[in-house]
Amino acid sequence: MKDFSLLINAVYVVSAILFIFGLKLLSHPSSARKGNLLSALAMFVAVVVTLLEQDIISFDVIVASIVIGSAIGVIAAKKVEMTAMPELVSLFNGIGGLASLAVAYATIIGKTELSVLVLIVSFVALLIGAITFSGSVIAWAKLSERMVGRPIVFKGQAIVNFVLISAIFLVGFLVVTQPELSTWHYLAIGLSLLMGVMFVLPIGGADMPVVISLLNSYSGLAACAVGFALENNLLIVAGALVGASGIILTNIMCKAMNRSLVNVLTSGFQPVVTSEMEIEGEITPLTPDDAYYVLEAAQSVLVIPGYGMAVAQAQHSMKELQQLLENNGAEVSYAIHPVAGRMPGHMNVLLAEADVSYEQLFEMDEVNKRIESFDVALVIGANDVVNPAAREMKGSPIYGMPVINADLVKNVFVLKRGMASGFAGIDNPLFFKSNCRMIFGDAKDTLGHLVRQFAD
Ligand code: NDP
Repeated sequence: MKDFSLLINAVYVVSAILFIFGLKLLSHPSSARKGNLLSALAMFVAVVVTLLEQDIISFDVIVASIVIGSAIGVIAAKKVEMTAMPELVSLFNGIGGLASLAVAYATIIGKTELSVLVLIVSFVALLIGAITFSGSVIAWAKLSERMVGRPIVFKGQAIVNFVLISAIFLVGFLVVTQPELSTWHYLAIGLSLLMGVMFVLPIGGADMPVVISLLNSYSGLAACAVGFALENNLLIVAGALVGASGIILTNIMCKAMNRSLVNVLTSGFQPVVTSEMEIEGEITPLTPDDAYYVLEAAQSVLVIPGYGMAVAQAQHSMKELQQLLENNGAEVSYAIHPVAGRMPGHMNVLLAEADVSYEQLFEMDEVNKRIESFDVALVIGANDVVNPAAREMKGSPIYGMPVINADLVKNVFVLKRGMASGFAGIDNPLFFKSNCRMIFGDAKDTLGHLVRQFAD
């Protein structure tokens, strides 16, 4: 049989370059689709060329797995609701971890002639793969409300974790020094799976997107370790890219929430912060009919969407209103906070679904520079991301978090159902300011009302 290793490695280099270009394109909504396609193409080419490997023993199993796996992937991606995307991503991460676990297991089980280095990297792949798998399953269960979303903590949890981590180190040592004993391999898998569960249990449901991003990074690291064990250059590169981009995204999310990763991971163990803020002013409600007159006269409108827009599925009504406002001569811009909603890019995805042009979406820093120039700020189901307490109230739990300074706009209309707090669980002084009017009700209903007013 011919040796294709030169060709395989050459194609791997091309795939790795395509992955990097794909990642670059993913960094902007307008080029993200292209980036996704390019990376998928790179992966496809890599898989095809890998089939030329001489060590492959069963093409039947591989082809059957590709067909079944692709079918499941296509159906899951097509059927998933936009609000359930974090759950799906979590499952995909888990499956990535499971794949690394399986490959690491197959690499070491029953082999006595492996070098210490291969044994170490295989153990690392097995460990991270198992943690990623079981942690992702718990994250999925919490997000899909198949189990309670609140942090699950119990007395002595820190001690249990310490014992568990020590036991994993010990078993790791035994896997490397006594590779012929499969008991150590099974014990390593069992303990690592338990570690994944213990890692995610104390984290609250709403912090889960950060954890999912971290688990995504872990799945990359596991694949990278497998790449070392199999001496497969592309797996090493692809795994490192996933690992690095996952950790960068985790960091961006933590920064935008003004929290450290350690704080997110240990928040279940910390006492609940209740802020006793003195808020001056009073709530002024407004009917959509009255809001219409102000909007009709506005020259520039800034839309600030938040989690409530996703709950109400109000993006299409907002797009309709945007067109009517534009026909009326107003300029409409959207301000996107990096952690608005419950997952990175949540607002971008919803607005893209409603065909809002990318050119009209602006990042927080960009908008804040010219915030005072807008006539009206339409806050649609956003709360924490427009909370001026982050700027003004030193004792507030969100003090220091970068926010969209909606309170500096001449007229602020807040569309929400009642006075419920957002994810951070704190009051919002914006609602009490003299330039702010509360339009109570479901955001989609309110926007629908405004659209009818404009259309009449
Ligand atoms: P918030 O969670 O602060 O507030 C959402 C608001 O939407 C609520 O106050 C709620 O008020 C309102 N709402 C809910 N349903 C509706 C509806 N049908 N119609 C109108 N309003 C509705 O959302 P933000 O987007 O402002 O902030 C996101 C928060 O999530 C931040 O604290 C962020 O740190 C956190 N987070 C974000 C992550 C991300 O990746 N994006 C990840 C993890 C956490 P009411 O019930 O009164 O209507």
